[in-house]
Amino acid sequence: MQYQIGQCRVLTDKDKTIKFYRSLPKISENCGCENCHYFETIVTEKEIRLFTILKEMGVDLTRQPAINPDGICPVGPTEKYARAYIGYYQVFGKFGKTQRTPQTLNSEGKLESVGFFEPEDDSYTEYKVKQQADDQLIIEFYLECEKNKTI
Ligand SMILES: [Zn+2]
Repeated sequence: MQYQIGQCRVLTDKDKTIKFYRSLPKISENCGCENCHYFETIVTEKEIRLFTILKEMGVDLTRQPAINPDGICPVGPTEKYARAYIGYYQVFGKFGKTQRTPQTLNSEGKLESVGFFEPEDDSYTEYKVKQQADDQLIIEFYLECEKNKTI
């Protein structure tokens, strides 16, 4: 399947991605903290462009590999937002044609990663799509959401 992220085209294997996520534990099984639970149940349901695309690609946003101890790491609050997280998701696939910058190339001159930032109504997302292996893309993200109420 082909997907467009900004001006970046990626070709992914949806079935393989779905199967992979079925085998992973829920975020709350990896970590019992309130922040991780909140991410799993509330944040993954928000209308955030990156999340919408990942879901279309077959990613189950509520699951993560059991590492570190969790794949998701709460880093908030920030100046503007009540919640902030860093983490990553994996999809099976590779880059198609892309002119998107900023981007980095590997030692063979092949596209290695492309960066994005997306301010939305109630969130701000920065992410980087990286070719991890021939058939694996990693999407590393930094997300802020739920604007602080200011007078
Ligand atoms: Zn946690």
